[in-house]
Amino acid sequence: MENSHADQGINSAAGDTPAVATVLLVEDNEDNILTVADYLTFKNYRVVIARNGRECLEMAVSSAADIILMDIQMPELDGLEAIRRLRRMPGWNRKPIVALTAMAMAGDRERCLAAGANYYMSKPVSLRELTAVIESFLQNTHSV
Ligand code: MN
Repeated sequence: MENSHADQGINSAAGDTPAVATVLLVEDNEDNILTVADYLTFKNYRVVIARNGRECLEMAVSSAADIILMDIQMPELDGLEAIRRLRRMPGWNRKPIVALTAMAMAGDRERCLAAGANYYMSKPVSLRELTAVIESFLQNTHSV
């Protein structure tokens, strides 16, 4: 499992059409990974998967991701700490990070934004809404 790291977790966009953008999905729940990755791949995104915050920090650079979808509750390194560390990394001080949390506790949104997330969504997320959020952030990034 350790060896196949590079091949694992990368869904290429369907067909010959170039991918719209690369989304780094950071999530430890396999059902959520499948649901979100399949949908975004269908929407022609290149989806790269990290399964905890530590993997995310490695892949944030190596995957050339344009945006990160960050689960908060994860083993090894949680999403809040991963966001804080990303914001100190070259290239990630301004790129969009969307926090996704199932905690649904008062103050979640504020904690995520204070850590450096651009946006917060509580699970279960609507895939259409999630895609709309991704599109709006990528348009903002590219229109400058
Ligand atoms: Mn989780």
